[in-house]
Amino acid sequence: MKMMRKPDPAALLEPDNSYDLVCVGAGPANLSVAALLHPYRERVSLLVLERHDAPVWHQGMLLDDAMMQSAFLKDLTTPVDCTNPFSFVAYLQDAGRLYDFVNRGNWHASRHEFCRYLGWVSSHLGSVRHGAEVVEIRWNAGQFCIALANGETLTSANICIGTGSVPFVPFDVPPCSADRCFHSSQYLVHRSAIQGDHVAVIGGGQSGVEIVIDLLQQGRASAVTFITRRDSLYPLDDSPFVNQFYTPDGAANFAGLPAPARERFLACNRLTGDGASPDSLRRLYELLYARQVGGGRPRFELRCALECVAVTRGQDALLLQTRETQIGKEDTVAVDRVILATGYKQRLPDCLAALRPAIAASIARDGVRKDYSVRWEGEARNKVFVQNFSRGQFGLGDPYLSTLAWRASQIVNSTLCEQAYPRRPAIGTHPVPECVASRT
Ligand SMILES: Cc1cc2nc3c(=O)[nH]c(=O)nc-3n(C[C@H](O)[C@H](O)[C@H](O)COP(=O)(O)OP(=O)(O)OC[C@H]3O[C@@H](n4cnc5c(N)ncnc54)[C@H](O)[C@@H]3O)c2cc1C
Repeated sequence: MKMMRKPDPAALLEPDNSYDLVCVGAGPANLSVAALLHPYRERVSLLVLERHDAPVWHQGMLLDDAMMQSAFLKDLTTPVDCTNPFSFVAYLQDAGRLYDFVNRGNWHASRHEFCRYLGWVSSHLGSVRHGAEVVEIRWNAGQFCIALANGETLTSANICIGTGSVPFVPFDVPPCSADRCFHSSQYLVHRSAIQGDHVAVIGGGQSGVEIVIDLLQQGRASAVTFITRRDSLYPLDDSPFVNQFYTPDGAANFAGLPAPARERFLACNRLTGDGASPDSLRRLYELLYARQVGGGRPRFELRCALECVAVTRGQDALLLQTRETQIGKEDTVAVDRVILATGYKQRLPDCLAALRPAIAASIARDGVRKDYSVRWEGEARNKVFVQNFSRGQFGLGDPYLSTLAWRASQIVNSTLCEQAYPRRPAIGTHPVPECVASRT
């Protein structure tokens, strides 16, 4: 088998530290841009900057048996170019596991394996620098000046922001030690602190369900209270027709709708991306049923239709202020620790502070262009691409892997000023406008 050789990192750096495109963040979004630009590396000088010292992906939730929610073919490159050397299949072949993976008969890789794939891509691309946190980006004399935390500076004609989303907590939490009340993104960082505690997990999506399963299996907590404001734990809808929303055509159709219809559409179809995987729900149910049969610790309580509106500090406990969504009854639940599986929100990173007011206002007013660049005063010479920031404009798939390669291909086309990755006609028609119409 032909193994892929890792490039020499020193060979990547431009002698004058000046680039055509600098990508901030080496998550899947920018790795996809780098992989799709790789065949054009003689034409475009590219650097991807990542603050972590080594490739990681949602490390705090990298639970042993966590599975990807998207099919393995929705990787960094395959949906737009199945011959690109950085596909998941190419990774499997390089790792010598292609037959074994296929023999599983499962479209979904584990999150551990996907994370390894990302690490393999970033180490073979030759354009990714780890341990390089971008702390400031300024625009000066027709170029971006990019400052790193280690004091280095470099310049670039264009930038691509792929810094991901940040933890979202929809209510106030009290100042307390980080391991007493923390977001799900920090679960594995603080898990070992849980010893005989009553733990509340707030949020009934995939992360909440995974954490509860883990807490039940670990058996370190004395009690687990699982709180969701929905009426039950709902499955993610991964069926074929709704999956059409998560395609380039789905995004294009969505983008063509008037703003109120887009909002309605997002609200109506939330569970196509936001629920918990049916497999995880089945596992949780089985675990609970097995305890009914044979008993076991920790004590467990599922509280549906219950909204947490605030967390405060009691004398010895954290107090959840709750409201029953169906009847409005308010109450207080005392626990030792709180895990906030309350999701993520999009936010332009602090390193853009100097440009942020103009960029944020432009995005809020006009959205981004079809090539994911921002309309701003310097755009004629210097483009600012933003990834994972356009759910309201391009629809449900924007934060996920499903349309990530396609989005990256639009950015690459724009950078190259040519249709390097042409749009291919879709099979069939797309149901978005009709679906919205039927719900009005
Ligand atoms: C636990 C979990 C599981 C998920 N599973 C799936 C799934 O199965 N399928 C799916 O489609 N989606 C999944 N998602 C959604 C997932 O977030 C996206 O698919 C994907 O990670 C988004 O990629 P990204 O590159 O935009 O952001 P991220 O993956 O968040 O990457 C952003 C990167 O930017 C870096 N960075 C931030 N600021 C700076 C800076 N100033 N300087 C340098 N580097 C910086 C960060 O360190 C990070 O590495 C999951 C999300 C979570 C939280």
